[in-house]
Amino acid sequence: MPELRNCKRCNKVFSYIAGPPLCPACQKEDEKIFEDVSLYIREHPGLPLTVVAKELDISYDKLMKYVREGRLQIRAANGQMINFCEKCGKEIEQGRFCSECEGGISKDLEASKRSLRDKLAASPETKQAQGGGYHFLADVKKK
Ligand SMILES: [Zn+2]
Ligand SMILES: [Zn+2]
Repeated sequence: MPELRNCKRCNKVFSYIAGPPLCPACQKEDEKIFEDVSLYIREHPGLPLTVVAKELDISYDKLMKYVREGRLQIRAANGQMINFCEKCGKEIEQGRFCSECEGGISKDLEASKRSLRDKLAASPETKQAQGGGYHFLADVKKK
């Protein structure tokens, strides 16, 4: 039995079954926006998402949400897929994070590496940990 919910956008009560908590009308509107976006992006490859958001008058966050959900695939003018930093949403060529966030993450790792090393210092598992398992230790060292 469907439960009654308030639409997240217009606050109307509707019977919720699955998917986003939007009433049928808002969900339809949402789909239309998404269609517009994907069409626009297909017609304008290589256009930065910030510009797309501005042109279509929707929020960049919303665009990014589509991208993160894997609903929207962004390609550069040369047809190459564009990745986005999982932390700040900046366009990047490859990997999961932009160089700035990667730097910040490495610093985080550096700290956890240190505490890990302290913890493992007296442990017989230390050798095992250095031989594999903790791949990020090796990654940080390369920098
Ligand atoms: Zn609604
Ligand atoms: Zn970033």
